[in-house]
Amino acid sequence: MEDCLFCRIVNKEVATDIVEERPTAIAFRDINPQAPVHILVVPKEHIPSIKDLDKEKCDILADIFSLINDIAVSEGISQTGYRVVVNTGEEAGQDVDHLHFHMLGGRFMRWPPG
Ligand code: AMP
Ligand code: ZN
Repeated sequence: MEDCLFCRIVNKEVATDIVEERPTAIAFRDINPQAPVHILVVPKEHIPSIKDLDKEKCDILADIFSLINDIAVSEGISQTGYRVVVNTGEEAGQDVDHLHFHMLGGRFMRWPPG
């Protein structure tokens, strides 16, 4: 998907602050952070949203949550707590149509979100 921003980040055509890279996923810092730690974890494969997941994608999701766990430790938020958010569709505020997991941590958060 040459017009997809996150595919271009995966392909290193757009520079970002990469936190960690694995064979199936990449993690980089959000350009507009909403918390002291705000990292996006993205599958390398172009999957538009949660709606496009099926059983065959289970391995990728396992990789992503393993990566999230490891980053939480390396960023020092594993014990204090953090939030993982996947905006899906227009009303939820999904702006980039390439599945991504927001990791937010380093401050207290309210519930419900706005
Ligand atoms: P969403 O609104 O859930 O689709 O999230 C998209 C996120 O991508 C937003 O939090 C943006 O700040 C972030 N973002 C957009 N462009 C970039 C970029 N070039 N590098 C890093 N993060 C970005
Ligand atoms: Zn993409």
